[in-house]
Amino acid sequence: MDLRSPYVISIVELPRQEGASMNWEATLDAPSDMGVEMIGVPAGSPVRVALTLHSVSEGVYVSGTVSTRLVGQCARCLRDIAEDVTESVGELVFYPERRAALVEEGDEEAAAAQVVEHDHIDLEPILRDAVVLALPFTPLCRPDCPGLCSECGQPWDELPTDHHHEQVDSRFDALAELEAELRDQEQQ
Ligand SMILES: [Zn+2]
Ligand SMILES: [Zn+2]
Repeated sequence: MDLRSPYVISIVELPRQEGASMNWEATLDAPSDMGVEMIGVPAGSPVRVALTLHSVSEGVYVSGTVSTRLVGQCARCLRDIAEDVTESVGELVFYPERRAALVEEGDEEAAAAQVVEHDHIDLEPILRDAVVLALPFTPLCRPDCPGLCSECGQPWDELPTDHHHEQVDSRFDALAELEAELRDQEQQ
């Protein structure tokens, strides 16, 4: 855990006593990999975080919201899209000894869970999960985006409603050619 990271926060102020809680709010610069190929949060852009940290028996339960702006490309028409999102956060960060005990009991999920280290919690993986797991598999500029004209590749949204291309079906051309060829052969 890099204690210099702005995403690493101290919980020294949070009493280790069930039911205790503290609020934590900040606007941070987005880390470099908060997204997927088609859409995500550009590195350095603002990420607003409003959290409550709850002391629970197993560790610290982090809840609240993360708000930011997604930038990406529509999967159908390839135009740029930008969308403000607010995602909810809810993740248990274990005390190391509690996680160790669960792992020993065979809890595979606990093995991958975050732990409190030296009274600090790294929010980066927690916030990244909250944002990235909520990203659409297929980002769209609008739910019924008609995509691109298959002939000229222009977005249908930017084409006149009567846009069309002369239908030239090359398969029929090839058939006609073949037919003519066969006819020629028969006549020989
Ligand atoms: Zn689109
Ligand atoms: Zn076209």
